Amino acid sequence: MTDQQQTRRDFLKTSGAGAAVLALPGLFPSGPSLSGLRSPNIVIIYTDDQGYSDVGAFGAKDFDTPNLDRMAADGMRFTSFYVAQPVCSASRAALLTGCYPNRIGITGALGPNAKHGINAQELTLAELCKSKGYATAVFGKWHLGHHPKFLPTRHGFDEFLGIPYSNDMWPLHPSIVDLPEGAAKRKRGYPDLPLFDGERIVNPKITAEDQKEFTTLFTKRAVDFIDRNKDRPFFLYLPHVMPHVPLFVSEKFEGKSRQGRYGDVIMEIDWSVGRVLDALKRNGLEDDTLVIFTSDNGPWLSYGNHAGSSRPLREGKGTTWEGGVREPCIMRWPGRIPAGATCDEPLMTIDLLPTIAKLIGASLPARKIDGLDIWPLMAGEPGAKSPHEVLYFYYHRNDLEALRSGKWKLILPHRYRSLTGKPGADGKPAGYTQKMAGLELYDLSSDIGETTNVAAEHPDVVKRLQALAEQARDDLGDSLTKREGKNRRPPGKL
Ligand code: MG
Repeated sequence: MTDQQQTRRDFLKTSGAGAAVLALPGLFPSGPSLSGLRSPNIVIIYTDDQGYSDVGAFGAKDFDTPNLDRMAADGMRFTSFYVAQPVCSASRAALLTGCYPNRIGITGALGPNAKHGINAQELTLAELCKSKGYATAVFGKWHLGHHPKFLPTRHGFDEFLGIPYSNDMWPLHPSIVDLPEGAAKRKRGYPDLPLFDGERIVNPKITAEDQKEFTTLFTKRAVDFIDRNKDRPFFLYLPHVMPHVPLFVSEKFEGKSRQGRYGDVIMEIDWSVGRVLDALKRNGLEDDTLVIFTSDNGPWLSYGNHAGSSRPLREGKGTTWEGGVREPCIMRWPGRIPAGATCDEPLMTIDLLPTIAKLIGASLPARKIDGLDIWPLMAGEPGAKSPHEVLYFYYHRNDLEALRSGKWKLILPHRYRSLTGKPGADGKPAGYTQKMAGLELYDLSSDIGETTNVAAEHPDVVKRLQALAEQARDDLGDSLTKREGKNRRPPGKL
């Protein structure tokens, strides 16, 4: 054992950060011996708008992701891992609170004009980790409110370096993104995009040159955070700004992929993952750190070659078809999560908070949450199943559009967007048209692309899932059927 590891262990002993883990019976029933077990560091790398097949280990062809592939070889791939909603702010709210975002009043993507954000009454993953003495940091895109009371530093994060909302929410820069006329008008009312360090704006007017360095900047700060906190437990949240449009890449990856700008951007994100894994190794922390990689929603398909791919899934961002909500997910924790394993059980980002709470011995929030403990699946326990009878997919204001139970996905009648003509190219989006989905049933075990509606063949399944939908309407409401829901909570307001 190195001196660093000894110091770390001493810290954990005196702080009590590790004790609760040891006290939990059956936490690692099939894993290695409990000796040496202590509170793990938590690293969550959360990319923006990356598609299901935009990682080598998930089928990417035109660019290489050696570090993510290594992470998958050393850990577990999750092939039915969902975000709660197919859009930035709602997705992040779910990840950080363990709640369906409509339960806590966060929908859509908050813009520079938003007057609300995450409610101080909600317990975030960072606050949960802090309750056990963790150092906490977020580097990248926050997107849960940009007014001071909503900033990460008011919600459990010791450190924040990043932007408050999406990188396209800035005044028009025609030299960078030549947007169509309608889009340009919409964007002219936006203020300049600021860069925050803590609660201070350190750059009030981010330029294209600044954006090119974002992936590198956030990675460097993440590595520095790991180095500085090697002797105490930490939670590092790295929500990269990329590959959300407009796409930017640093010189070191410009022109490196076979797929153009989008591929270059993913290769730089992969480099970032490698730098984080290297930092853990250099500090002797690999075996003490749970690393999770996933993305906030599917690809923005109207951007064509500047969007990723959700193949073989249907549709992308902004829809509750699989391409909008099913994400590539990899988890790695040597010795605790089996190497080279795959889990196809349906899970969701809301499960991370309660699972991490159990791993670090922290108390769950007093308020109702929706996520469940998925550690038995992460640990590869034989016969482990998804703890969810059903996962709900809401979108827009509060529309219950779909649900998944086991291998079945029930689509409820709703309007959705779809590309009809050619997608856009080189930063210019194409338009969407609206289509109507009916009451449809898909067997995802044999039809991952949601191509064949089998509702007529399985009326009993449809009936069972409709009853589950009714439970959600009672609890969370549903704008489509004009239901309020009993258990929704308001967002934080100015
Ligand atoms: Mg996104």
